[in-house]
Amino acid sequence: MTMQPLMNTYNRMSVAFDYGQGAWIYDTDGHKYLDALCGIAVTGLGHAHPAITKAISEQAGKLIHCSNLYSIPLQQELAAKLASVSGMDNVFFGNSGAEANEAAIKIARRYGHNRGVDKPTIIVMENSFHGRTLATLSATGNRAIQAGFEPLVSGFVRAPFNNLDAIRQIASNNNDVVAILVEPIQGEGGIHVPSNEYLEQLRAICDENDWLLMLDEVQTGNGRTGKYFAYQHTSIMPDVVTTAKGLGNGFPIGACLARGAAAEVFGPGNHGTTYGGSPLACATALAVVNTIVEDKLCEHAASLGQYILDGFHIQLADAPYVKEIRGKGLMIGIELTDAGTELAVLAKVKGILLNITGGGRVVRLLPPLIMSQNEADLMIHTVSKLIRIYAGDEADA
Ligand SMILES: *Cc1c(COP(=O)(O)O)cnc(C)c1O
Repeated sequence: MTMQPLMNTYNRMSVAFDYGQGAWIYDTDGHKYLDALCGIAVTGLGHAHPAITKAISEQAGKLIHCSNLYSIPLQQELAAKLASVSGMDNVFFGNSGAEANEAAIKIARRYGHNRGVDKPTIIVMENSFHGRTLATLSATGNRAIQAGFEPLVSGFVRAPFNNLDAIRQIASNNNDVVAILVEPIQGEGGIHVPSNEYLEQLRAICDENDWLLMLDEVQTGNGRTGKYFAYQHTSIMPDVVTTAKGLGNGFPIGACLARGAAAEVFGPGNHGTTYGGSPLACATALAVVNTIVEDKLCEHAASLGQYILDGFHIQLADAPYVKEIRGKGLMIGIELTDAGTELAVLAKVKGILLNITGGGRVVRLLPPLIMSQNEADLMIHTVSKLIRIYAGDEADA
């Protein structure tokens, strides 16, 4: 067998896409698919959004890159915009979610050292996902992602998600803890929404102990859950917020936002990246943030998301193989009683893109923020039917 030129890191489906338009994407054979996944929460504004195409093409013809050795007005403009939508103080730009989390982890460690903690430790959750770099995979609560890459990065201690007692217990017997890193809603783990008071109580525990509350909003950010950031459903402010995915609508950009003491941890030389915050990345993300705000897409995501959840509750009300339907905004999970790995392939055949996560049992839908109610109806109908066919409850006509 001849060696394939691509490293074998993905189980890819046998389809290749040619172009997209709004909530739709077209393969190289001309078939069209309703994109209910958005490249995993990335293309929130859909495909070929005119404001994004314009921002990219105009900036590409002007200046793509110049280096962080120089001042970059578009970077300052984007930082100010993100600070205003989030209430945070300042921003570091990288190129991905993992990089944004690396920045957060470095902030926490340096914050700890500044306070005399020699082995600063970060509390992370079971079932979490924070990325694939060595530090972020060590923070991730999924053994399959870590296996074979030991030695892991030290300085993490793990607690069950949505469990405050476990955090209080760690607080009472670990003096090295300096921060909590947590997803406001677990995405890769299977769309797990914690109790309403979870973030608020984590904030209180962090305040009592002088820990940083660091939220990984790589997936939940940029309007996905019906607020610009998911913590904005609560009354609390985090110390650090990371985001990426929907921020560039497909153009690679990640951001680590900080507030208060956390915002003053880094000085020149403490962190950096060649590409981060390039004029092109920032022009694109500015167009994304402005579009989300001006077109009131957070509000739309909130109401359409509720409409979709209600729709699935009705359509799948009597389905015994559906364990739970949950989510917030346009982050929706349908947990099955059994593995549903093949469902993504079946869905593709029926003209809809979705994926299966949470150990193979959760159908994950991350439709675009620009989805219409008609498209949502089609998605609810098609996915419900698919699940019934898959479970053998309905014939495949
Ligand atoms: C996708 C994701 C990441 C990693 O982002 P990359 O851009 O793939 O590095 C980190 N955290 C969460 C919550 C994610 O969903």
